[in-house]
Amino acid sequence: KATDKIMGDEDCAFRSLLTAAPPLLNCDHGDPTMFEAYWNAHKDDHVKVGYANDTLSYFVKSKEQEGCPWFVSALLDDAIRELHSFVGNAVTGDRAIVVGNGSTQLFQAALYALATRDGTSTPVVSEAPFYSAYREIIDYLQSKLFHWAGDSKTFHPKANETFIEMVTTPNNPCGTMREGLGLGDKGTIVHDLAYYWPTYVPIISSFDSDVMLFTLSKCTGHAGLRIGWAVVKNPAVAKKMAEFVALNTIGLAQDAQSRAAGLIRTVIRGYGGKRRQDHCIADDNFEISLSDPKYLLAHEIRITEALLAKKFFHWSRQVMESRWVKVRSALAGNKNFSLQNNVASATHTFSTCTFSGTSHSTYPAFIWLKCEKEGTDCQMILKRNGILGRNGALFGVSTQYARLSLLDHEPAVDLLVERLTTLEC
Ligand code: PMP
Repeated sequence: KATDKIMGDEDCAFRSLLTAAPPLLNCDHGDPTMFEAYWNAHKDDHVKVGYANDTLSYFVKSKEQEGCPWFVSALLDDAIRELHSFVGNAVTGDRAIVVGNGSTQLFQAALYALATRDGTSTPVVSEAPFYSAYREIIDYLQSKLFHWAGDSKTFHPKANETFIEMVTTPNNPCGTMREGLGLGDKGTIVHDLAYYWPTYVPIISSFDSDVMLFTLSKCTGHAGLRIGWAVVKNPAVAKKMAEFVALNTIGLAQDAQSRAAGLIRTVIRGYGGKRRQDHCIADDNFEISLSDPKYLLAHEIRITEALLAKKFFHWSRQVMESRWVKVRSALAGNKNFSLQNNVASATHTFSTCTFSGTSHSTYPAFIWLKCEKEGTDCQMILKRNGILGRNGALFGVSTQYARLSLLDHEPAVDLLVERLTTLEC
């Protein structure tokens, strides 16, 4: 049973004796365990772990980049560039790749590199609802170089004041594609592209901005490897970011880098090494077109998970799409709550994904829910219904909003959908 799986078998029997209330289903964090289903099917793929005489130096075999110890292994640097050119979501030519312990470290490295250092503290803003960790991390750091200045919509820079704008696109929590407010020529935008993968959105163009942050956590799902990377145009900024990583953690684990490179290569290999547009390969000699329903009907071939399992992004998008179908139907007709995500509906237009060649909507990693009753606390209401979400206030908006992760294992998502179906105010 789904509930047994979430709580652990002994726990389940024990707790139900003590309380009649359903145990809370934790949808607070965006832990990407959904991807386990794919990697379980590929667990025998060779992903290098290493030998006893590896990793004896702080420094890795890296590409010579202006004599700076970047800490990025040549292997991972190549794999990242290949992945971006394969997916078509970011330009990497003539750009530096800086790696970090998750993009969480690189966010801090970017602030360190971009702060003005003229004796004043540089304001950092982001449009609400913003990714909650930006404010939390900046507040905790208490840096003299920068400070949190809140929602960019209500921020008015002083004359000649430079500032940093975090632009998350697609956005966490709501999934909207964002361009940033710009706010004149004194702002530097850092693009957080954690979710700019075909799993969550149609890829519409190759991003080419000054500082772009990515993370393996939301790409392949390997959050535990703690691998993030920044694609940076200005070599001086890249160097400063690498300096932060050096000061902060003296680089990052080389084993994790090797594994990350291996996983990225596995994803690319699943497509036969090259982009196939809307074609899906069943085996080496047999090709079917996903966009041709007549063919599929005539041959009674269903696009099974097994068939798609080879193709990572096709598989993950299909999983997200099916989750959104279930979520929408669970909340359909519930007048007390509304989905605030910009996701597929009868009226919402789809975009053609340049990666897959197919037309589809966005499938955000999070449900962004609003309780329509004025002055309510959506998180508390969800809690009463057995669901633990994250309060809208942490994202810079009212408590009428709450965020729920959609990246958990399938049984947990099914249980979430079950509870959303009967959600009461
Ligand atoms: N940016 C955004 C928008 C995120 O949602 C997350 C993960 N929740 C991160 C950055 C941090 O990712 P990492 O695991 O690489 O630190």
